[in-house]
Amino acid sequence: MKIIPCGSVATVYPPEAYFTGRVLQTPAIEADAPARVRAAMVSFEPGARTAWHTHPLGQTLYVVSGAGLAQVWGGPVREIRAGDVVFFPAGEKHWHGGGPKTAMSHLAIHEALDGVHVDWLEKVSDEQYEQ
Ligand code: MN
Repeated sequence: MKIIPCGSVATVYPPEAYFTGRVLQTPAIEADAPARVRAAMVSFEPGARTAWHTHPLGQTLYVVSGAGLAQVWGGPVREIRAGDVVFFPAGEKHWHGGGPKTAMSHLAIHEALDGVHVDWLEKVSDEQYEQ
């Protein structure tokens, strides 16, 4: 067993190129090969969101607090709330983030394929976010 004490892994602002608004990210799991699961706690302020992206092996989000939004390319913007579990299959283009007036935190769980767990695309415009 290995206990990673709270505070021993820094919470960071993820790269601005891939997010809109203020987002905090705390790594939780970065398993050594051959395991490949990764997880991070991600907190979004109201209006903050990821850019569009895909995950080579899919992704599960466990919404821990608040309420936010998520959308699959070509689909409606959906509300996600604390306690919801959201799954994106491999290669499905999507984004996720806080609500217009609510913060949202989720645990993001995904597996790396050849060391890659996300492929970033264009940012989510205000028009896309507000639809
Ligand atoms: Mn995702």
